[in-house]
Amino acid sequence: MADFEVPETREFPVIPTIMEGAMAHSSPYLAKEKFQQELGFPGDGQLIDGWKETFLNKLAEMLGKYRSLQVFMDICVKCGACTDKCHYFLGTADPKNMPVARQDLLRKVYRRYFTLPGKLFPKLVGAIDLTEEVIDDMYSYYHQCSECRRCSVFCPYGIDTAEVTMAARDILAHIGKGQKYSNEIIAKVHKIGNNLGLPEPALADTLEGLEEEVEEDIGVKVRYPLDEKGADILLVTPSADFFAEPHVDGLIGYGKVFHAAGVSWTISSKASEAANFGLFIGNYENMREISLRIREAAKELGVKRIIFGECGHAWRVAYNFLNTLAGPWDFLDPNYPVPQHILEFTSDCLDRGILNIDKSQNDHMTLTFHDSCNIARASRIGSFPGSQFTIPRKVIKAVCNNFYDMAPETIHDSTFCCGGGGGLLTDDLIELRIKGALPRMEALKNVIAENGVTHMAAICAICKSQFTKVLPYYGMTMDQIVSVHQLVSNAIILEGQGEEDEDEDETDEAA
Ligand code: SF4
Ligand code: SF4
Repeated sequence: MADFEVPETREFPVIPTIMEGAMAHSSPYLAKEKFQQELGFPGDGQLIDGWKETFLNKLAEMLGKYRSLQVFMDICVKCGACTDKCHYFLGTADPKNMPVARQDLLRKVYRRYFTLPGKLFPKLVGAIDLTEEVIDDMYSYYHQCSECRRCSVFCPYGIDTAEVTMAARDILAHIGKGQKYSNEIIAKVHKIGNNLGLPEPALADTLEGLEEEVEEDIGVKVRYPLDEKGADILLVTPSADFFAEPHVDGLIGYGKVFHAAGVSWTISSKASEAANFGLFIGNYENMREISLRIREAAKELGVKRIIFGECGHAWRVAYNFLNTLAGPWDFLDPNYPVPQHILEFTSDCLDRGILNIDKSQNDHMTLTFHDSCNIARASRIGSFPGSQFTIPRKVIKAVCNNFYDMAPETIHDSTFCCGGGGGLLTDDLIELRIKGALPRMEALKNVIAENGVTHMAAICAICKSQFTKVLPYYGMTMDQIVSVHQLVSNAIILEGQGEEDEDEDETDEAA
């Protein structure tokens, strides 16, 4: 199946013996000129004229703008606490995938040009010249970091490698070395409104088809409205929710919850994407432009609230930055948080007892839950500390009878990345994605063996897509990953649901 060796899963985590250069060959495709230009970057995959000066100027600008980056460059004491915490190091054994080594790719250049000892005695302080080889190394290894922030949880100084990665990627894009996958996707969002490049008519068609499918299935007309002016809620969800399994089952679930709650809602064709890959490439301007589409859509439609569907990094951008990027949101109803997560909405409906739930509808499954990095370590769902861990589990347990968590050191803020986050969900990085999934696969296999778990639920579009691809490499099946709102959808019984079947049964008996 693969032209590389899929790592063996073990019962207990093993720190690998170092293999120098094991992943030096792994590098994503470079963005061509068109996709550099559309995002405001120069070049075409080759280094631009004067690249060295541009690199150093951009680094200087960032050090001035982001105090955290300056601090991260200066304070690492090489304690080693982060070295075995990255899933890409655990899965590939390449020492440059140790978080501290990844940071050092930029730090060594920083020392050489921005510190006195580095300028005077470079060798003594581990400072290096900026060369084309160094750039190649950076392009490769800063695209072997999913910006998951697991290492930062264990760093006594709180150094966030994800932030270093984002800065490095942005600098690289400014010297002509942008990443094809992320840049092409961002360009589609700017032009059409979603990652897939799905235009309004196709989206309308898809949602109409979904309404028919749900009505056929449960006998209730559940609406999946598009561009409906005056609706109370604007749902912003990852475009994968519009068609791909298991994502679409989650969207079906959101619609059922809104229906049961009796609220009016709509999707927007202008902001038909929750994902914001501007975060992955570390570029503020692109992140802002994508976020502004949501503001425009909310104003045009006259909604009162904004709710985000199941997407990890999208929620991180929304929860942390939506106000800075696209606020103020003073035209929305102040009684609700801006934005709100779909799980907050569903959890609240459960608390108010307005959902009719039959948990036995999920009895064919025994569930576990994968905490998505960007929600677990970079944001919160709900309003109390740790609610990003408790609310998803509370909802799952409210709709399923069988639930077991994976090992404690692999969940909550210690969760392992799926291996495909941070702009790495592309086939040109498949080896990295499969190997990087190792720690999560080991924890999953253990809970399967110990508790008979059959399915893993997730609340992130990237995690779901990544696991669909990765599970078969580790001897499991792609349908073992499910959406949390797919579980809600299975269990929720809407008013009038099944009445047609009952009528038909009665007619049969009478006949
Ligand atoms: S942020 Fe995640 S992927 Fe990046 S170095 Fe840290 S643990 Fe590894
Ligand atoms: S844990 Fe923090 S201080 Fe220690 S080596 Fe890693 S980045 Fe440096």
